[in-house]
Amino acid sequence: MIYLDYNATAPMRPEVWDAMREAMLVPSNPSSMHAVGRKARQRLEAARETVAHAVGVWPNEVLFTASGTEANNTVLRGFPDRPLLVGATEHPSILKLALKLGGDVLPVDGQGFIDSGILESKLKALGRPALVSVMLANNETGIIQPIARLSQAARQYEALFHTDAVQAVGKIPFDMGTLQVDMMSLSAHKSGGPVGIGALVLRNDLPIKPFLVGGGQERSQRAGTEAVGLAAGFAKAMEMAQTREWTASIESEMRSLENNIKQNVVGAEVAGEGGIRLPNTSCLLIPGVVSETQLMHFDLEGFCVSAGSACSSGRIEPSPVLRAMGIAEAQAACAIRVSAGWNTKPEEIRAFGESWVKLAQRLGKQAV
Ligand code: PLP
Repeated sequence: MIYLDYNATAPMRPEVWDAMREAMLVPSNPSSMHAVGRKARQRLEAARETVAHAVGVWPNEVLFTASGTEANNTVLRGFPDRPLLVGATEHPSILKLALKLGGDVLPVDGQGFIDSGILESKLKALGRPALVSVMLANNETGIIQPIARLSQAARQYEALFHTDAVQAVGKIPFDMGTLQVDMMSLSAHKSGGPVGIGALVLRNDLPIKPFLVGGGQERSQRAGTEAVGLAAGFAKAMEMAQTREWTASIESEMRSLENNIKQNVVGAEVAGEGGIRLPNTSCLLIPGVVSETQLMHFDLEGFCVSAGSACSSGRIEPSPVLRAMGIAEAQAACAIRVSAGWNTKPEEIRAFGESWVKLAQRLGKQAV
């Protein structure tokens, strides 16, 4: 199989497994006072330091969570007195919850970008300090939002600003200082770390309401015994993500793939094309061929790709992200997301392009 679904989850880096194995084979409750507990505490704090260093904050500004989803939910539920404003193309762990909590949505343009003028006018109309959440990089299209510009606009209205940086880890350089945000969500498994751990990075003077209540772990802000082994793996993945050694060659291969498809398949389009995007992500639309048909073909040919994230109980709905960008429902139903990563070989992307042209030939959609 050729795996091109890194935005869903990335294969674990072997070094991550080594780091985890060592920490997981011993009992690890960092709250225990004995020598074994103290060793666990040491490992946990070393991991926290590495994650903090990778995003340019102090270690006490990193709270470990069980996922990016938990970090996102914690933020949205953490400031109940503030009205919520979130991007229209956010991950469901932001968008669904924000709508449930009565939040408002910031529209995007045809490429998927949020306009700082629209943010400002919504904040002005609210007339009181809000909580704004806009993702750094989109999981379906790879579009990278102008976070620093948006957070500067938000600050004029005393809003708090959160960014979901889950998809940016290991793909582009970023840190809390340059983005000028108050909070950030991370997840380990999109860049070669383990599934089941993420982090909420927050300025340490922020009075966030804890989401999980119980023991006094994570400075009483996130109850539950800390997953030391997973934290060690997360730290190793964050450390390795800093080099991004694979991104330059993969980006040029992905852009060639896009050009190849556009030239060879009638009506093919790239969502968000022309905008600043992640180096590893392409969202390709082939009008008239629904995602299910394409996925079936690629599955038979040995490729793992995705129809976008709008897949629930096995049924694929047209992607709300693409719909928010103004793409018609019928066209959005024909999207495929291809996402590469640290272990992708350029020839795998080329093979995928060839398979696509083969599908187009079979369906009579090959350009002449
Ligand atoms: N945010 C974005 C942009 C994502 O792509 C994902 C996962 O797909 C998440 C949040 C959720 O992260 P996790 O799988 O760690 O809950």
